[in-house]
Amino acid sequence: MAKSKYEYVKHFEQHQTLLRNTYVVIRVDGHGFHRFSQEHNFEKPNDLRALHLANEAAKGVMTDIQDIVLAYGESDEYSFLLRRDSTLFKRREAKIVSTIASLFTSYYVVNWFKFMGDSTLLRYPPSFDARAVCYPTAENVRDYFSWRQADCHINNLYNTTFWALVQDPTKNPPMTTTQAQAILKDTTSASKNEILFKQFNINYNTLPEIFRKGSVLFRRKMMVPVKETEQGNVIEREKSIVHIAHVDIIADEFWLTGDGKGIL
Ligand code: ATP
Ligand code: ATP
Ligand code: MG
Ligand code: MG
Ligand code: MG
Ligand code: MG
Ligand code: MG
Repeated sequence: MAKSKYEYVKHFEQHQTLLRNTYVVIRVDGHGFHRFSQEHNFEKPNDLRALHLANEAAKGVMTDIQDIVLAYGESDEYSFLLRRDSTLFKRREAKIVSTIASLFTSYYVVNWFKFMGDSTLLRYPPSFDARAVCYPTAENVRDYFSWRQADCHINNLYNTTFWALVQDPTKNPPMTTTQAQAILKDTTSASKNEILFKQFNINYNTLPEIFRKGSVLFRRKMMVPVKETEQGNVIEREKSIVHIAHVDIIADEFWLTGDGKGIL
């Protein structure tokens, strides 16, 4: 196409590229989900439908972007790990970050009714921000995911205790959120476990793993049927399928002998 005299403005563009030969983590996080979860009647402390919806959105992102080798999600956030030698969008940061945020948001909206049901209408458009961070070593990457899973645990223990206090059916009038906050201020995780067990007969360790550990997505190579010959033979081809698990990713097992083996 012929160039116009205006074309020079393109040269003002500045492209930040993500340092080569480093692991890149892109984290998306829901904008204002404290309010969004209230306005859409999310069950507290954990709405299982919403977690499954976020997992589906992450699966969509991984299906579209093959360079993502691992994803980890909890609450309103998801982290995506790009393979170290990825050349996605020539490693241009803005392209990568904006595309992943946009893809995640689209899949979240497109699958809303499938996961949230007809009764929970989407009242306003959710949005997600995203950032990219480069990590030079495998140890840094493991520490990053440990940080997010520890965050999941800490928040979930707090929220579970908080909502047990606020929703306590034996209290009339119910405890206010301010009162519950005051009780939990400065408590250790041991004393939260004790409140849950003694007052509510809840053994924290038996709560669903998706709440306590979050969700891990990874790829596994599998033979899948692709077509059938005229003779009726099924032709299979090896494909990488995205799997989900709710497992510990802080200890060595996942990375050394489990499903994370070979990722780093
Ligand atoms: P920001 O825009 O700064 O991220 P935010 O309101 O989204 O603000 P976060 O720290 O990201 O704040 O917290 C997410 C909020 O969304 C939490 O308060 C949590 O209670 C709520 N939330 C997210 N997912 C769920 C879920 N599956 N079930 C119940 N609540 C959820
Ligand atoms: P990239 O991912 O690099 O942006 P692209 O395929 O999106 O690649 P663009 O330069 O952004 O390339 O061009 C957008 C393309 O979308 C054009 O080729 C144009 O034909 C098509 N397109 C966009 N909007 C319309 C529209 N309203 N009607 C028809 N075609 C459209
Ligand atoms: Mg945020
Ligand atoms: Mg948020
Ligand atoms: Mg968040
Ligand atoms: Mg385009
Ligand atoms: Mg264009």
